[in-house]
Amino acid sequence: MTRVHAKDIRIVLVEPSHPGNIGGAARAMKTMGVADLGIVDPLRFPDPQAVWRAAGAVDVVNGARVFGHLDDAIADCGWVVGTSARSRRVPWPVATVGEFAERLVREDLGGKPVAILFGREDRGLTNDELECCNLHVMIPANPEYPSLNLAMAVQVVCYEVRRALTRDNTAAATADPSPAAGENSQPDLPTDWDRSPATAADLAALYRHFGQVLSAIEFHDPKNPRLTMTRLRRMFARIHPDQTEVAILRGVLTRIERILARTTNPHG
Ligand code: SAH
Repeated sequence: MTRVHAKDIRIVLVEPSHPGNIGGAARAMKTMGVADLGIVDPLRFPDPQAVWRAAGAVDVVNGARVFGHLDDAIADCGWVVGTSARSRRVPWPVATVGEFAERLVREDLGGKPVAILFGREDRGLTNDELECCNLHVMIPANPEYPSLNLAMAVQVVCYEVRRALTRDNTAAATADPSPAAGENSQPDLPTDWDRSPATAADLAALYRHFGQVLSAIEFHDPKNPRLTMTRLRRMFARIHPDQTEVAILRGVLTRIERILARTTNPHG
């Protein structure tokens, strides 16, 4: 299996408005050995305040990639999680940051990046953005005031991720390789998967295709498809399908489209 490493972690800041928070997030990342920073449509960036707040992590700020749309920032990722202090309209798979870090060390993403999304300072991530995520992650905080500063939320998440990854690597390095190791054996280690996980781009294409076919077969009203698509997205987020499974579903949808075209245009 291909374990997740710190280099596979991509921190994605969605529309941050304060450049100081970008620098603070970069510093938080570097202290925890994470370097891949994506920024979606920042209000002010590049900006001297980002450099100033980054201190010794200017390299992370300078290496940050700016994207016009979230889809482009996560397209190649095998797993996408969204951080949020609030619960949602439609309940979604959710984990505490500690549970997320534990799961991360058991994921086999075939070396694909993991995106961790952080929202705007004033209103977090939108429902549409949260629906791009396989999992929602929350930092358990004071229920009366759970909203951390953006860069501090990045710090807590990167810390938990580092803690789980380094502990796991140390355990793997010192583990008795013999299968008869008894108490050293770890029954809940992941099984190797035979296929690569679908990327965020594969899933986005699958959702578009599903939407088209559901409208074409008049399963839903194209003017009001919201909740059906949300529930389908949630189902796929939960299952975390691999690339072959998505290809099979796309193949089925394409067949439906072909048969529809034949019945609506028999001489075509
Ligand atoms: N007022 C916003 C909070 C924005 S804080 C809201 O109600 O959603 C900026 C970002 O920091 C959030 O979008 C989230 O990504 C992260 N964050 C802050 N507090 C968090 C918490 N307790 N758990 C998880 N993420 C948190």
